[in-house]
Amino acid sequence: MAGATRFFHIIHPRYLLHDTGGAAHYDIPERLQVIQDILSGLNATGPMVTVEPTPVEEKRLLTIHSQEYLCRFEEVALSGRSYLGHPDNQLGYETYEIANLAAGAGLTGIDLLEKEPGGRIFCSVRPPGHHAEKAAALGFCFLNNVAIAARYWQEEYSRRRIAIIDFDAHHGNGIQSAFVEDPDIFYVSLHEHPFYSFPGTGYAEETGSGPGKGTILNIPLLSGAGDEEVKKAFAEQVEPALEKFKPDALVIAAGFDGHLLDDMSGLHFSTGLYGYLGCRIATLADNLCKGRLLSVLEGGYHLPSLASSVEEYCRAMIEKKQ
Ligand SMILES: [Zn+2]
Repeated sequence: MAGATRFFHIIHPRYLLHDTGGAAHYDIPERLQVIQDILSGLNATGPMVTVEPTPVEEKRLLTIHSQEYLCRFEEVALSGRSYLGHPDNQLGYETYEIANLAAGAGLTGIDLLEKEPGGRIFCSVRPPGHHAEKAAALGFCFLNNVAIAARYWQEEYSRRRIAIIDFDAHHGNGIQSAFVEDPDIFYVSLHEHPFYSFPGTGYAEETGSGPGKGTILNIPLLSGAGDEEVKKAFAEQVEPALEKFKPDALVIAAGFDGHLLDDMSGLHFSTGLYGYLGCRIATLADNLCKGRLLSVLEGGYHLPSLASSVEEYCRAMIEKKQ
């Protein structure tokens, strides 16, 4: 790639208004404020452009979610109730509309990449998405932002084969179930072992079913696993699997709650590991799919570690240096 790489940070001020009921909840607005602050001073080559996403048409949400669920979600938000389904999924009056804007970030990013190939994209969104199921909110997630983006890339731009890498500390059950029978979407997840971690899915034996058999690669990590375990799995399992799958585009469920200081998991990742991941993932995208790479925020709750890890990931993705 010649010259400076353009970096687009996709974020909307309304994301801060998704009301999870105060500081007792993990998904607080300050998460995005610390990311915005640190990325505005990103120490990387090339200019950064901040882009506001546009809302998503309902037909895009319906590629992943049921009409009945979307109606129920909107109704519960507007009714003034404080959560949907389970107290983890706190919401406010504006959450339905804000979740739609969060799903919109990925679509806006894909439009940008298709118009301006070679740019790097990071979407800082609330609420997150990878636990959201077809007809259920789960684990702070309401709409499955990454799954909706993957389907959009296929349908709008005919990028048929999509690979999704999920490095959040938790298994992305909602992404897996959306595509479990889909031979054209490859889902790779590195996460804390489901035997003792939320949401209890993501065993290595779950590899897809029917026509999708073999297109799911779950890599459960034991508590205490750190950088070396991830690097080994990435080199020995993730990279060869993607080289074999030959994706047309790459979507990343970028969660940072595996950090050593983040108490949402027992994983012991360093800030530097996210630099390794940014570099390896950008290299894969350039080698396999002409740099078509979209990253969307999932978890990450220890504010200083979240900020520095996102910065490290984005810097490495732009510079392709760890
Ligand atoms: Zn997580």
